[in-house]
Amino acid sequence: MNATVDRLKAIVGPGAWVTDPEALQPHLTEWRGRLHGSASVMLLPKNTAEVAEILRVCASTRTAVVPQGGNTGMCGGAIPDESGTQVIVNLRRMNRIRQVDALNFSLVADAGCVLADVQAAAREVGRMFPLSLGGEGSCQIGGNLATNAGGINVLRYGTARDLTLGVEVVLADGTIWDGIRTLRKNTAGYDLKQLFIGSEGTLGIITGVAVKLFPDPGHIRTAFLALATAQQAIELLAEFRTRLPESVQAFELISKRALSYVARHIPDVRLPLDDGYPWYVLLDVAIPDQSDALERLLQAAIDRGMVTDAVLAKNVAEAEQLWRVRHSISEAEKREGRGIKHDIAVPIGRMPEFLVEASRRLTVQVPEAIPVVFGHVGDGNLHYNAHLPAALQGAEFDRLALRVTTVIYELVQEVGGSISAEHGIGVFKRDALAQYSDPAELQLMRTLKQALDPANILNPGKVI
Ligand SMILES: Cc1cc2nc3c(=O)[nH]c(=O)nc-3n(C[C@H](O)[C@H](O)[C@H](O)COP(=O)(O)OP(=O)(O)OC[C@H]3O[C@@H](n4cnc5c(N)ncnc54)[C@H](O)[C@@H]3O)c2cc1C
Repeated sequence: MNATVDRLKAIVGPGAWVTDPEALQPHLTEWRGRLHGSASVMLLPKNTAEVAEILRVCASTRTAVVPQGGNTGMCGGAIPDESGTQVIVNLRRMNRIRQVDALNFSLVADAGCVLADVQAAAREVGRMFPLSLGGEGSCQIGGNLATNAGGINVLRYGTARDLTLGVEVVLADGTIWDGIRTLRKNTAGYDLKQLFIGSEGTLGIITGVAVKLFPDPGHIRTAFLALATAQQAIELLAEFRTRLPESVQAFELISKRALSYVARHIPDVRLPLDDGYPWYVLLDVAIPDQSDALERLLQAAIDRGMVTDAVLAKNVAEAEQLWRVRHSISEAEKREGRGIKHDIAVPIGRMPEFLVEASRRLTVQVPEAIPVVFGHVGDGNLHYNAHLPAALQGAEFDRLALRVTTVIYELVQEVGGSISAEHGIGVFKRDALAQYSDPAELQLMRTLKQALDPANILNPGKVI
């Protein structure tokens, strides 16, 4: 092992590898502290050629490699196992914007670029890169593609997969596949880039990306609403999408409990409305400055009893304040205590029924569970999380947590949903993927893994 590590260090050169335990520590721990691993070294390559050389050495020595971006992932996919034999390849030094083409509405970047920097590069030429999520100041565009990240603008622009034009990937044997294209149409054979998007580092290391840019949507209006039922939120979403076609950018559902956690744990966030209503919606609509279409729609909804109360941001600073409430939920949950996370997708039309039934089943089967629900409801994506009383620890916590997850995942299956909407599988959901997937689907995944990584050196133990 030591000889292999020395060869790997020599590829990246002095200053571009880490073995010091203290410096390694943040890269061995999942950001919520639920998983701790060990690694022989973390390598910081500066270009694609170095990544290729690293994988050639790892393939010949059968050394396992864990690709790592900003380590903001939710499923433990970027953390090595506890053996101490795995090597982390962190792409943070590969942070060059390679090309921005305003006329082609495209951008090409190294995979290690931080998402916020990609957004800024697009803004500089009057364009927008719409992928946006809470971790955008730390996560990397390569990590975003590797997890097929979603975020707050999926409703209007799609997930990372929909935003990708091409990828550059280093395969398990060190081969570089230059799939960087900035074309909108390309039917020359299989669409190979799709294999790597959402593969969580198990099929190749993404070293470059080509993504779509969009016109600046102009004036965005942001509103925070209180509602009596989730059914009203779903009906309101359909109405807004019909009356303001292609304008609704984001539509987030927040439960009373999620909002009360923010009030309790994040003191510098001011709640826009009283936290006593059952449900809240935070929405972004792109409409011209002079238009009062949003005010009229909201007033009509209030008059019909669809919306109980509403706040409209008057300027960008107020809109940011409203979004801070939404972006603070994960941190507030963390401060509340150890939670049970479910990032699920449900057909939007069945969401109200799902929420009622999930709550009913949990009350009967795991009465200790305290659901904390919020999510990108415009995409049918719910974070149906739960807490258990703080007194429950260790094996007792794990036993009840499994029961909560079983209740939720079984119901997800019944309504034709997915156990992973945007966070991926990693290690935390690997067994659930095996349990809840169609056997033929699972076998196809294994066949692909075997074909692309026969020695199983790319992020072994993750996804499948
Ligand atoms: C506050 C907060 C809010 C979040 N909100 C959202 C949200 O709304 N929507 C959402 O989808 N996610 C969200 N996330 C999760 C996370 O930010 C995304 O999953 C993100 O895409 C991960 O990027 P990363 O660079 O941090 O990847 P990492 O965490 O480093 O890695 C994630 C996975 O991708 C693999 N990987 C990373 N880089 C590469 C690469 N270059 N090539 C191949 N494999 C690679 C890793 O091996 C691992 O399996 C949030 C996270 C935080 C902290």
